[in-house]
Amino acid sequence: MEEQAIWTVFLCFWLAVLGAALGSFLDCAVSRWAAGRPPFRGRSRCLACGHTLGAGDLVPVFGYLLRRGRCKYCGEPIPRECLAAELAGALTLGCLAVRFGPAPELGQWTLWAALLLALSLTDQARQLIPDQLLLALLANRAVWFMVLGHGAPQLTAAAKACAVPAALLALVLVLEKCMDREVMGGGDIKLLFVLALYLSWAELLLALLAGCLLGLLRAASAHRRNDAAIPFGPFLSAGAVCTVCYGGPVLDWYFGLF
Ligand SMILES: [Zn+2]
Repeated sequence: MEEQAIWTVFLCFWLAVLGAALGSFLDCAVSRWAAGRPPFRGRSRCLACGHTLGAGDLVPVFGYLLRRGRCKYCGEPIPRECLAAELAGALTLGCLAVRFGPAPELGQWTLWAALLLALSLTDQARQLIPDQLLLALLANRAVWFMVLGHGAPQLTAAAKACAVPAALLALVLVLEKCMDREVMGGGDIKLLFVLALYLSWAELLLALLAGCLLGLLRAASAHRRNDAAIPFGPFLSAGAVCTVCYGGPVLDWYFGLF
């Protein structure tokens, strides 16, 4: 038991480091993609002065904190989104390590979280959830389904969970017909269908609820002057991560009421 705990702490630390590096890498790749440049080519540069950044400037989280959020060469502020992506990556992979410990399924959830982080960043940057990332999530589930030796019960659970996005899709279509405007992005519905392959119907509803609450909190704190739409993908992803890590006790408590 003690050996298991040591392994979990070890994994938590290194996955948090990996998550921070992944957040930094994905934020850079997505900002290049959003600017119409090749996402994976060329050295990292300061967005303000164009100075090539060295290894010391690119250390996740600490690079930002040591420079107090400013470029070493020109003093211009570094976008806070960089730090947010690094912290989100570290926190997510660290929490997953604590949740699953040194088990094979940690591999599935680590890749799942990495893809959700990439998808959240693209949605944040361009209000777009690329189909390629949704297909990668689908492929990750299919591969681990075989590796982990899942069977008919998991397929039945996935079919039941798909009823949640199907019902939501029907509701959204009716609302859009009545209100004559877009109520929910098509990418968000597709993401819910993909999440249904990973979560049970109850977990999916909890993830949806958590995502809505996080989105409302963000909207309330944003004090936006204009009525610009806030993308839902990052909040739905955050809700799904919270549900996978901490949803079990919440659902046990809820179903214990009946
Ligand atoms: Zn600079």
